[in-house]
Amino acid sequence: MEHKCLNCSATSNDAVLLSCEHKGQELFVCVKCLPILIHGAH
Ligand SMILES: [Zn+2]
Repeated sequence: MEHKCLNCSATSNDAVLLSCEHKGQELFVCVKCLPILIHGAH
C-alpha cells in the first residue's frame, strides 16, 4: 500500500513524505505541505 500526503495526495514518488500521528491515526504529509500544517490552515 502506498502512503499519500493528507493534503495534496502526493506519494513518496512525488515528494518526501513524513509520517505523523493525529488523534491516534498515522498520517503522512509531504514536505511541501508541512508548513501548511504547522501554520494550521484547514
Ligand atoms: Zn502534500
